[in-house]
Amino acid sequence: MELIPDGTRIGRAKRSLYERGGTRRTQHRVARDDVDDNWRRKPMRPKLDQELKNIIDLERNMPTYQEMLEQKRASVREVDARESARLREQGAILVDIREQDEVDQGIIPGAVHIPRGFLEMRIEEAVRDRDTPLIVYCAGGVRSIFGAEALSDLGYRDVVSMAGGFGGWKASGLPWRVPQTLTSDQRRRYSRHLLIPEVGEDGQRKLLDAKVLLVGAGGLGSPAALYLAAAGVGTLGIVDADIVDESNLQRQVVHTTDRVGMPKVESARVAIEALNPDVNVVKHETRLDQSNVLDIFAGYDVILDGTDNFATRYLINDACVLLDKPNVHGSIFRFEGQATTFIAHEGPCYRCLFPTPPPPELAPSCAEAGVLGLLPGTVGIIQATETAKLILGIGEPLVGRLLTYDALEMEFRELRLSRDPECPMCGPGAPTSLDDIEYTDVGCLIPALAVH
Ligand SMILES: [Zn+2]
Repeated sequence: MELIPDGTRIGRAKRSLYERGGTRRTQHRVARDDVDDNWRRKPMRPKLDQELKNIIDLERNMPTYQEMLEQKRASVREVDARESARLREQGAILVDIREQDEVDQGIIPGAVHIPRGFLEMRIEEAVRDRDTPLIVYCAGGVRSIFGAEALSDLGYRDVVSMAGGFGGWKASGLPWRVPQTLTSDQRRRYSRHLLIPEVGEDGQRKLLDAKVLLVGAGGLGSPAALYLAAAGVGTLGIVDADIVDESNLQRQVVHTTDRVGMPKVESARVAIEALNPDVNVVKHETRLDQSNVLDIFAGYDVILDGTDNFATRYLINDACVLLDKPNVHGSIFRFEGQATTFIAHEGPCYRCLFPTPPPPELAPSCAEAGVLGLLPGTVGIIQATETAKLILGIGEPLVGRLLTYDALEMEFRELRLSRDPECPMCGPGAPTSLDDIEYTDVGCLIPALAVH
């Protein structure tokens, strides 16, 4: 063989040989001679060729979407909207598998919502018993066929798909509503609430719709206001006639040094709105008395008593009993605090526990009494927690229980309380108005408990 140092020429000749099959040796040589582009011209090896052919055949035989839908339709039972409504009355559960943006436009009340992508993952949380009849629906009745089959595959024995979907339900004149939903900003802000099943989106909506009145923007009202605002209580009313004083800042954390001299209700509004723009702050810059208490309380769901004097505590109690509003009570004195929740006629009221205020000589003014600055933080947040539980309808409220807190001993105790059958406010013959009741301020000492 003639040796030609010009690799290109050899390469071309050998390539031609290689393309016809060639020998291993010539393939090797050609590959080495003309390594840059030889691989591109390499014919498909028989094995690869067959594999490609198989894939093409497979694709040719794959059902189209329409064919697949027809196959599923044959295996999934479909019922129309009216039949679905009838089945639901008999105990079937509606499973809405639409996406969130579709659900935002309208829902069937009582339906369980699980977007299609999460259906297999979450259905067991929502429906444990696989014998429970399920009606799956989407917007138009197509996705629900696939959804219903997926649930059957998971072992649910009685699954149907609603033909016509949500659109068909609406067109049949069956009941539906536009849900109150959270915005995407709210979903991010309250994401840690949404993760707790006991709160979730429904609970967050309840908080946002709730109206809580804080009586006093002081030691107890400050932490309560901040935490209730952070949790997303939508309306916070604040009653306070005072202005921020330097001596308040040791414990009244809703106020700041640069707001000394500002009305407390305004200072609290600034802090709350900076924390959470979802909260509507209603300022009541006034002293609560017999003439205004019923009107102010009427607009709220829960009253949080953060006052520091007996006259106002009795006034709040009596108004709450008359209006049938929950009264979340807290009081503080030096190193000791107390908290309880009064729900009229379900448990005792404040007058059941403390029928009469202590004599004035035993009740120093709050300025004289003094309080550890950290104490109201603990008690105010217990009150805020009680308030949130009442709004959400979860847990056991402190009804008929007085929680006492000793900061020095770091000790919580609980006293069981019962109603006074002769209570002047919630017993028989109780007044129906506040007109004839006398309220006198006697200071801020915690009075002795009544012994029944
Ligand atoms: Zn009572």
